[in-house]
This record gives sequence, C-alpha cells and structure tokens, in this order.
Amino acid sequence: MKTIYTFGNGQAEGRADMKDLLGGKGANLAEMNLIGVPVPPGFTITTEVCRLYNEKGREAVVEMIKDDVKKSVEHIEKLTGNKFNDPSNPQLVSVRSGAPVSMPGMMDTVLNLGINDAVAETLAKKSGNPRFAWDSYRRFVQMYGDVVLGMKPTNKTDIDPFEAIIEELKEKKGVKFDTELDVDDLKELVVRFKAAVKENTGKDFPTDAYDQLWGAIYAVFDSWNNDRAILYRRMNQIPEEYGTAVNVQAMVYGNMGNNSATGVCFSRDAGTGENLFNGEYLINAQGEDVVAGVRTPQQIMTEGSRRWAAMQGISEEERAAKYPSLEESMPECANQLVDIQHKLEEHYRDMQDMEFTIQDGKLWLLQTRNGKRTGAAMVKIAMDLLREGKIDEKTVIKRMEPGKLDELLHPVFDKAAVKTAKVMAKGLPASPGAATGQIVFFADDAEEWASRKKKVIMVRLETSPEDLRGMSVAQGILTARGGMTSHAAVVARGMGKCCVSGAGEIKVDYKARTVEMGGKTYKEGDWISINGSTGEVYDGLVATVDADLSGDFAAVMNLAEKYSKMDVYTNADSPRDAKVARKLGAHGIGLCRTEHMFFEGDRIKAMREMIIAPDEASRRIALQKLLPLQRGDFEGIFEAMDGYEVTIRLLDPPLHEFVPHQLETMRELAEQTGRTLDEVKLVCDGLEEFNPMLGHRGCRLGNTYPEITEMQARAIIEAALNMQARGIVVKPKIMVPLIGVKNEIQMQADIINETAKKVFAERGETVAYKVGTMIEIPRAALVADQIAQVVDFFSFGTNDLTQMTFGYSRDDAGKFLAIYKNLGILKVDPFEVLDQEGVGQLVEMACRKGRGVKPELNLGICGEHGGEPSSVKFCASLNMNYVSCSPYRVPIARLAAAQAAVENA
Ligand code: PEP
Ligand code: MG
Repeated sequence: MKTIYTFGNGQAEGRADMKDLLGGKGANLAEMNLIGVPVPPGFTITTEVCRLYNEKGREAVVEMIKDDVKKSVEHIEKLTGNKFNDPSNPQLVSVRSGAPVSMPGMMDTVLNLGINDAVAETLAKKSGNPRFAWDSYRRFVQMYGDVVLGMKPTNKTDIDPFEAIIEELKEKKGVKFDTELDVDDLKELVVRFKAAVKENTGKDFPTDAYDQLWGAIYAVFDSWNNDRAILYRRMNQIPEEYGTAVNVQAMVYGNMGNNSATGVCFSRDAGTGENLFNGEYLINAQGEDVVAGVRTPQQIMTEGSRRWAAMQGISEEERAAKYPSLEESMPECANQLVDIQHKLEEHYRDMQDMEFTIQDGKLWLLQTRNGKRTGAAMVKIAMDLLREGKIDEKTVIKRMEPGKLDELLHPVFDKAAVKTAKVMAKGLPASPGAATGQIVFFADDAEEWASRKKKVIMVRLETSPEDLRGMSVAQGILTARGGMTSHAAVVARGMGKCCVSGAGEIKVDYKARTVEMGGKTYKEGDWISINGSTGEVYDGLVATVDADLSGDFAAVMNLAEKYSKMDVYTNADSPRDAKVARKLGAHGIGLCRTEHMFFEGDRIKAMREMIIAPDEASRRIALQKLLPLQRGDFEGIFEAMDGYEVTIRLLDPPLHEFVPHQLETMRELAEQTGRTLDEVKLVCDGLEEFNPMLGHRGCRLGNTYPEITEMQARAIIEAALNMQARGIVVKPKIMVPLIGVKNEIQMQADIINETAKKVFAERGETVAYKVGTMIEIPRAALVADQIAQVVDFFSFGTNDLTQMTFGYSRDDAGKFLAIYKNLGILKVDPFEVLDQEGVGQLVEMACRKGRGVKPELNLGICGEHGGEPSSVKFCASLNMNYVSCSPYRVPIARLAAAQAAVENA
C-alpha cells in the first residue's frame, strides 16, 4: 500500500482527481505542481492511513509509515538543499490536515516545525534577521502548545494561555501590535511559553524535529475526531469514514521582513459573485495572522482597496499611506498572483480560494480550492462562467447546491425603511443578506434562545470554530474584528448567513454581556439589524421586503426547466400561497389540505355544529352551511392555478382537533346549537382518543360519515364548473387520505363519482376530474396493485408513511431524534430526509405495483420530503410525475429535479 505521495519542483505523484485519497489540499498541491504554479515541496500522508490510525491505533501506523516519512522528508531536503533536524542547515516544515471535502477551521495547522534553540540561532544568522527567527520560534511553540499539546482553552471566556503571556508583555512594553515586540521580547516569549507548557503538561517542550513531526501528525489524525470536526460533518453530512490526509511541506516565510507577506485571495467575489479578483494580505506576517483579525489586513488589488477604504470611512491619503494594496506595495508579486489566479480558475473552471506567501519577494502558493460562496454568488458565478463559455448548461445545474437557493428567496431590507434606520456602526459586508434579531454573545446562548423560537444575532469580537453551532441557528453574525476572509466571514458565506465582520468601532464586553456602538450600550436581548451586503448595523428592527427573482436566478431556473423530467407542484391551502408558489415556478397544487379552511372566522362554528350533530339529518344541515364556504375557497384556488392541476384532499384530521376545549367556547356552542352544556361536553369528551393519529381520521371519517365526503366532492365539482364557466381552465383532482384497504378507496370513489354525476345532471354541464389516493399507510403500499385499480393517481404522504414505518410519532419524535442523531443511531431526521433504505422500499414497491396494473397511473409525493433535494432525486429515480412541496421550496425542488435528470443522463 502506498501511504505517502510527494510533490515539488513541478512534479507530483498525486493529481487533482485524487481527493478521496490525498484530501482536497493534498490533491490540489500536487495538481498545482503539475501545471507550473510555484508550490513549496512536500508530501501528503493519505486518508487511508488516517482510517488505519483510527482502526489499528498509533503504534501500528507508525510502524507502517515510519520509513516512508523519513524518505519523504529527504525528498524535501533534496529539493531545498536544507536538512530537517540539523541545526547547521535547518529545514522547517508546516503540517496541515486536509480532508476530501473542505472543513474550514475544523482541523489544525502547525507552522515552523523543526525549530529549537540551536536552529533559531542558525536561522537568525543565515537570514541576517534575528527577529524573523525568534518570531517563527515563538509562533511554533504557541501553535504546537495549542494544537498538539492541547492547551487551547475550551471555556468560552478563557483566553489562550500564550495570548495571555503576549498581552502581558505588550502591556509591560506599552505596545499595541506583536510586530512592535523586539528580538529580546520574542526570546522572552519563547522561554515563558515553554515554561507554560511544562507547567501545563508536566513535560519539557520537545526539541527533536522528528519528535515534533510525529506529535503533529498524531494531532492531525486525532483532530478528525474532535467535537468541532464531528459537528461539522454532521451538519454537512460528510461521512465519518473519509478521514483526513496530512500535508507536510517545506516552510516559506511570510514573516521574513518587509519584503515578505502572507495572504488569502479569491478569483471572484465570494459574497456577490462579481468577477473581481480580491483578497487580503499582511506584510511581515505568517499563516493565521490574516484570518485571526488581530491586525487589519490590506487589500490585494487597488480597486478593492479603494472600495474597502470608502466603506471604512478612510481617506485616500490615509489608505495609500497606511493600507496600500499589494499592487502598490509589491507590484511584481501582485502581477504574478493575478496571472496565477487566472490560470487556476481557467484550470479548475470555477472560482478559486487561494492561500499564498511571499518570502523575500518570491511568491508561493500554499493552497487552492473551489471557494465557498453564498447562494447569490453561486448563481452569478455559474451563469457568468456559462456566458464566458467556460462551462456548459448541464455543469451550471450540477454546480448548484439546491438548498442554497433558499438564501435568494429571503427578504431584503425595505429601501424606505433603511433610509430612516439609524446606523450605529459599520463593518465589512462579509456575507450578504438582511438580518434582524436579538443580541446574544455566546454560541450556547444562541442555541438556547433559538430553541425558544427567538431570532438572534450573534455579536462577537471574532468567531472561532467553537461558535459554529451558534452561528448556524443565528439570523446573522456581527464581529468587531476580522476581515473579509476571517473565520466568521468564510463560515457565514458557506452557511449563507448574513454577516458583518470587522466592525472596529463596536466594543464588545463578554463579561458584562454588552456591546457599545454609536454611543449606545446594547444589552443581551436588545434588537439590532445588520445588512451583510453593505456592512451597516442598525438600531432595532428594520422592515424587509421580498427578494428579486429575476436575472441570473431566473436564468438558472429556466435551465432547470429545460433539463428536468419531473414536474414540481406545491402544497398550498389558499389562493395567496398558490400565487406565491406559481411565481416561484410551481406547475400545480399537489396537496390542498381542506381542514385548514375550517378554522378561519365563523367557519369553525359550522364545523363544530356538524361534529356534534346527533344524527345524519342535523349533520347534513350543518354541512349545508359549510358547502358554500368550501366552494368559495376552491374557486379562489382554481383561479390562481388557471390551467394547472389542483389536488384537493378530503378531510383528514381527527374530529377532536376541531371541537372546543375550553368551557367558555363549549357554552357558546351549546347556545348556538340549542343543546345543554353537558351534552356538548359529552360529545367532545367522546371524541377524545388515545392515539388520534391512528384513530378516527382520514378516509375513516368519510366512510363513517359519507355525507362529509359528499359535501366536499360537491363543493369541488361545483367550484370547478363555476370557474370553467368563467373561462378558467380547471383540472381538479380529488384525493382521499389514509387508505389502507381497497374497499376504503372503493367506497370513497363511489361517493365522489355519484356526487359528480348528480351535480352534472343538475347543472347540465360537466368537467373532467380525477380521483386518487394518498399512499401513507404501509399496507397501502403493500397492496398498491389492488388500490391502483380504483384510482387515477397516487400521492405519497411520506410524513405519515415515515411515522408509521418507523413507528415514530410525528408529534413526539423531536424528543429523541436529536439524541439519536448525536449518538449516530440515525444519520439524519427521517421526517426531513426520506429514508430511502426503509420507507423508500415501500414507495418503490407501490410505484411498481401500481403501474404494473395501470401503466398510466399518475405518481407524486406531497410529504415534506417533496422539497428536500436528496428525496426529490429519489422520486425522480422512480419516474414519478411530480413532487409537491411548500411554496418557498419549489425552486429547490425544481433544481434538484433537473440535477437528477442531468446526473442520470
Ligand atoms: C403526509 O402524511 O405526508 C401528508 C402530506 O399529509 P399530512 O402531513 O397532512 O398528514
Ligand atoms: Mg398524512
């Protein structure tokens, strides 16, 4: 088994398409070598080794790869002419993790590995820059202490022990930045850092380069199973089995003086998608400095720098003097970087996110990957690349993450409201969108508040991977520090969360739980609004308006339309929802739940009168009152869906849900129906069920009270005739819920058909309609061939089908599903993502059996899964005619349907 792949000097054993084995970083480091991009030499230990490490343990793995590691280190030495573990001519390395899919902030990095006292002396002498040598050394001890020796604080208010020492020293010296510390200060830091390590771990800091290297390799492998990494994988459904690779690479130094720098850049704007090379850098800095948000990073391009200054309220003179762009400060390197980013984007045909270091005027690339982006940027970049002729239409569809379209559908701030809103602070537009919420400062508070349905905005000095949970439930994120490439900015863009970063004027006090801005002190729980597209922070709540669905969004949707083989309908109970869904591209209604109509206004009274009626005759009187109301509702919906199918489901929930539960309302009902309070109470109590979801509901109602089905069928047919008379094209589908036995649907179909016949005779005109059933009880799926004989269509009610297949109550599963997910018993919530393995078998069987007896049988799904991408693709694989979902998920479903078509072609 080959355990290590080397690269360097224009050659590599790996390639870009070996991500599974080499991780994203390792595969791209290899590829960059192959296409002539300057990359420091190094090697990648494969993800396979990580899997073995987890299976067989440390010793077995060391035994297996020890010789290869040594040989690979020699490969680096050969190319650089230096020696690892040799104080006379030292070679330092970086050690980084790299999983097959990028996991930002999840894994840890160690730079300057291989350094000790003697090596530092040599580096100082050889470079003629002792500050550089000791700065590298103190950074190494700190990083190694934090990452490998586990000294990074876990408590949210604790500060990193090394940072505490630095702060103390800076205070003593009266300086603000690390760069203002001199060589003696740095030497003192190294001594004090090592003492802190000894105190903390009880062991001396390792001085042998190989000891350091192995420690770092173990730390990378171990970090695969740290809490943050596990959480990120769960949130993003990344398989546990992947494992991470380890990349060991010759160091290049961005901290070698004022002719050195380090930075991060994007070939296009990750927030808006604009085709503008952009990024940030810092002179005389290393690795994490740019994203850590301690010093203010500078822009790479002059245009970007000017935009940045305008946003920060910095004059052109001050900008040019204090914060020049890389184009201005190191024009040759900047030009070379422009060429390289261009080359990389051309090569990968997608927006690239790159890391680079300039050592003494020479540019090196340390990483490239397809950049994370917002939903808006995802759409714009793909459409731009299509127009530029770099990718084709099918690739545009494949590149979309359907779930991200959601961001584009959400409201933005109302322009008028923004004009009058009070701006309290300004930061960087790190991730676009509009967010309004109550201030919280800590991730666990964000989670706790959000679980109480509160809208929160997380306000932080800066964010770190520990804040991920909180960020994911917050409406938006506001940070005091950090640039456009800070952790907060990158993660927020990945999540599609609105984020304003680097709002320098805000003063966050974690202990007091306050933030001061614009002369006002805000407490936890106070409302603010943030605009991730402009960087503005507003006082209080600011009104929002609907998103614009034209332009590139519409273009992507048109492509989806062009390639999709399956239709998308919507679940809508009102003309308003139907219109929204139609605008979003729905081609019909797959589920109209009639029961929702009974709760509005006075309708509930007629409904209750019907329910407590002592006999059929009085029930019919009450139903007569409901008939015109229902008919009116249906007319509105038919009108909104002119030309499209409308699937109306007959009454489904247990009657008990409609009866009054309070004495006062019971008394009213008694008065209204001329009965005694006791009588009413008796009826209501009598409707109480031990297990209402499995009780007297669905078609069981229509079969025990046929007059209900009769009334509903009449309302639908009459509404259809009325609208048809007005020139509207109506296509009614009448759907019977909760069928398990053929006779159930036979009886309901008979009532519907007889009623329709009667109405047609009365009116002297007809309308085409279809009768179908939901498949939501496992038995119905098992005998689908019998049921299909009676109906025109099946619609899978996967909410109930999941409930009954798993035996998990839809209303109670929340109590244990989260725990089940944490324990890994279930990977996902089966009520969100269709369980293809189990429930899917029933769906597949019902499709097969149904079409076996009736090839033209129309098939669809109307459970919540109809708007979830993987479930939509499953439905497409069964050749369903349509999926139906809530209005705002229609675009997501359309795209997923198109992806299914393109991916299977
Ligand atoms: C279902 O069960 O999947 C369904 C769509 O019906 P309801 O959610 O109304 O039970
Ligand atoms: Mg159901």
